[in-house]
Amino acid sequence: MDLNIKGRWALVCAASKGLGKGCAQALVAEGVNVVITARGSEALEATAQELRTLNPDVTVKTVAGDITTSEGRAAALSAAPYFDILINNAGGPPPGDFRDWSRGDWVAAVDANMLTPIELIKATVDGMTERGFGRIVNITSGAVKAPIDVLGLSNGARSGLTGFIAGLARQKRIAQGNVTINNLLPGLFETDRLRQSTKAAADAQGKSYDTALEAKRQQVPAGRFGTAEEFGAFCAFLCSAHAGYLTGQNVLLDGGSYPGTF
Ligand code: NAD
Repeated sequence: MDLNIKGRWALVCAASKGLGKGCAQALVAEGVNVVITARGSEALEATAQELRTLNPDVTVKTVAGDITTSEGRAAALSAAPYFDILINNAGGPPPGDFRDWSRGDWVAAVDANMLTPIELIKATVDGMTERGFGRIVNITSGAVKAPIDVLGLSNGARSGLTGFIAGLARQKRIAQGNVTINNLLPGLFETDRLRQSTKAAADAQGKSYDTALEAKRQQVPAGRFGTAEEFGAFCAFLCSAHAGYLTGQNVLLDGGSYPGTF
């Protein structure tokens, strides 16, 4: 299926690795020009090179910087004249016990996983409605539907974003302007983040990394972790011309992990 987004411009945040990279790959394969960001430039430039090889007909720009800062956002936003597609993503907050978290820890989590996407949407959404096309996807977490005990900062900050998006996506000016805003909720995907959190949990419990990884895998009804490629493919469909009637939704990609009926 041709997704009918060739020649569009996308900003894909936090895209040198993992799920953001998967999204950038799928969009580039569809002929979308991309601006990709990440904090460090080494992995970012390597990813940009891979994307150019994947599709030499598109423009791939890189912006190294922290997307959770106003300077990082300004640099990313100025890298293209306008954006038709915005993929909001950033690193997730650290695990822990809420008794140990300071006000500063909470502010950092809310800044990264709630206010940063809202600021980027604010900077791009009105231009999208004026041009009559826009697709915004926020990478959140399955923790929004089924909270994860040790990830209280993520449960809280991302739920704040989710509530805000539910209202925003339904504003008539936005919905009637062919601009959709949806959240993608990953379950367990085999990325650096999953590997690091598994290693930390294994060390804390005195287990081997392989044992801890296998135990995690067994929690998933599909019997495997998701891949960044399949996450990206789904994201690209949400960004397609065909997905214009799907907005304000929270879509779980979790191999059946969420146990509820709805
Ligand atoms: P990852 O560690 O594999 O990749 C993260 C990417 O984001 C890297 O390119 C990194 O450079 C970039 N990045 C991180 N912080 C940034 C910042 N402040 N500014 C710019 N770039 C930044 O992580 P991932 O697994 O792809 O996770 C992406 C998001 O999805 C995270 O918020 C994570 O919490 C969430 N998530 C992941 C999973 C999973 O199983 N992998 C599950 C639920 C939620």
